[in-house]
Amino acid sequence: MATDYYDILGVSREADDAEIRRAYRKLARELHPDVNPDAAERFQQVKSAYEVLSDPEKRRIVDLGGDPNATAGAGGFGGSGFGGAGFGGLGDIMDAFFGAAGGGGGRGPRGRVQPGEDALIRIDLTLEECAAGVARELTVDTAVLCERCQGGGAEAGSHPVPCDTCGGRGEIQNVQRSFIGQVVTARPCPVCRGLGEIIPNPCQQCAGDGRVRARRTVTVQVPPGVGDGMRIRMAGQGEVGPGGGPAGNLYVEVTEAPHEYFERDGVDLHCHVSLPMTAAALGTTLRQRTLEGDEELHIDPGTQPGTVHTLRGKGMPRLRSSGRTDGRGDLLVHLDVAVPENLDARQTELLRELASLRGEEQPEYAGQARNGLFGRRKAGRTR
Ligand SMILES: [Zn+2]
Ligand SMILES: [Zn+2]
Repeated sequence: MATDYYDILGVSREADDAEIRRAYRKLARELHPDVNPDAAERFQQVKSAYEVLSDPEKRRIVDLGGDPNATAGAGGFGGSGFGGAGFGGLGDIMDAFFGAAGGGGGRGPRGRVQPGEDALIRIDLTLEECAAGVARELTVDTAVLCERCQGGGAEAGSHPVPCDTCGGRGEIQNVQRSFIGQVVTARPCPVCRGLGEIIPNPCQQCAGDGRVRARRTVTVQVPPGVGDGMRIRMAGQGEVGPGGGPAGNLYVEVTEAPHEYFERDGVDLHCHVSLPMTAAALGTTLRQRTLEGDEELHIDPGTQPGTVHTLRGKGMPRLRSSGRTDGRGDLLVHLDVAVPENLDARQTELLRELASLRGEEQPEYAGQARNGLFGRRKAGRTR
């Protein structure tokens, strides 16, 4: 029974990328091991469901009734990217389609040299890394050009020759008589696998495929200002194609870890600071955390709950599609006021005295509400 990735994220099968991303962000925040150590297993499930559903190729496998994680075991990064050789399940399905389409006949052999697939790799970045940019070494496991044959697939001194079995057509026609007449079916030639030619003396390194799998290290330069879900394209660093065909691109997708203190909204950051009631009333100076270290934040006397202080230019770099950054967003500090609890006798006495001095000891001072709205109504009613 295949894992129901949609169910794990709590989204419908029709959910678009944005919905899937939202659902994941919400669950990840609730289940993150830093927040909720008991939910580690569920967090992994959610993470893996997101990895599958946010990857168009893997999602397609799910929608076809398969499970990309069930077949993609070996790959260094979740099945070695898009649709590559790794997916036994998908290969079979695609062969079935390909075979059916090939039944029309007359397509001739397919070329030995095919363009390579794109590959996708994800990196986890902290908010600080997203803000500052980072160079990250990645280990990628992709098909690379076979150096022994330079992609040609033949041992030195030997060359491909036309396939005898299919006469170089790459397919074999089968004529059957039936009660509705003559039925012609065509299928890819099993000897040359539809290529129309065979290599009598295939390269000993790649067995004629022109490419080999290799693990290598590449360095991705992540620009400042990236965010969750952004992809950095590394041209020509994906899979080399069959027959040494041109390599696809490698996409590096950023997964931004939720931050313990800052909440990100585009280029702006938000945080909440709780002030004791006395500090809000008397005014104070706080040490305010920013991405670049602490700053002094002056709180005016009489600061009300819900006051927002905007620290201009202390948010995230604004990343343009050109890859350059252009200014920065703001840091918005939301001030909450904590009303003192568990007063002892002396504190109670002092607060009573304060209330008395301010004429606030009567229970019915709703009439002095700041916006005056309730006061006016009440006054109207008592008149
Ligand atoms: Zn080779
Ligand atoms: Zn053949």
